Amino acid sequence: MEIQNKIESAASVTQCLHLGRSGERCLRAALEDGFCERHGPDAAWRFNIVARRRLFAVLLAAAVLWPILVDLYHALHH
Ligand SMILES: [Zn+2]
Repeated sequence: MEIQNKIESAASVTQCLHLGRSGERCLRAALEDGFCERHGPDAAWRFNIVARRRLFAVLLAAAVLWPILVDLYHALHH
């Protein structure tokens, strides 16, 4: 079931609607409004939000994994 959900969410990722100066399509994955993190009307602060979301995800992962890593370290060194 989890693999099925991952396939569906990957298929639903749309491409950014932004066009470059020579008409080339932006290749980045789009956010909810159809533009990627670099483009769209609110591009100036959009990048910060995406970066903050990523930073939060990394910190959350570190907080969850830290006790496991400490256990592993003790298991290997004692
Ligand atoms: Zn874009």
